[in-house]
Amino acid sequence: MIKQNSRGTLIVISAPSGCGKGSVISGLLKNDSEHRWLSVSTTSRSIRSNDIPGETYNFVTKEEFEKKIDEGYFLEYTNYVGNYYGTPKEFISEKLKNGIDVILEIEIEGAKAIKKLVPEALFIFIMPPSLKVMVERLKNRGTDSKEKILERFHTAYKEINEVTKYNYVVVNDVLEDAIDKVEAIIKSEKCRVDRIEEVYLDTKEEEIHELLMDKEFINEDVKI
Ligand code: 5GP
Repeated sequence: MIKQNSRGTLIVISAPSGCGKGSVISGLLKNDSEHRWLSVSTTSRSIRSNDIPGETYNFVTKEEFEKKIDEGYFLEYTNYVGNYYGTPKEFISEKLKNGIDVILEIEIEGAKAIKKLVPEALFIFIMPPSLKVMVERLKNRGTDSKEKILERFHTAYKEINEVTKYNYVVVNDVLEDAIDKVEAIIKSEKCRVDRIEEVYLDTKEEEIHELLMDKEFINEDVKI
């Protein structure tokens, strides 16, 4: 009856530091690794103990990053808390064309840049359940200096005020619930009428007529 666009969805997920966004994204990838792909960003920030180069990020120097900017390597990039972060252009269009959903885990300035380039992308914001929980998560990571934690907190606080620029917001209180909600959002997105390319009759009119005129179906009392 309908032919729908089978392109993948570009899913932009932002969340202030300390929202547990990484765990939400891992859950999404685990649920459907075949049809989802997480873009690996490039960054000039230093490697943390829990980072896996090439998996969490591609780590480069500031100079290397700037060279890549000049070469037009990035779809978008930003300077966040003193370091560069950027989304490489490569693979994204190809994955989307092949029906794979592409997840970009980026901060708000990057999300705004993507909104201009791809207005139909899906923008999801992950919220912490409270500022208190957010501060605790930031402190417990034990990877940043006190100054960095404060700077990240201030940036995160500003980001929360921009939540209305997104299509959906999910509070990450209980991780499993948050993942379920994001799953529901992605599923709903696939049912948007904008994805319909064609509406067609899948049965010949005569066949429908015959079905409707079927003696066993038509009750004596019913006149059509
Ligand atoms: P972190 O240093 O904690 O790994 O990341 C800091 C922030 O940079 C996070 O909000 C993360 O979403 C964002 N980020 C990571 N990669 C990119 C990217 O490619 N582009 C943009 N704009 N932000 C990114």
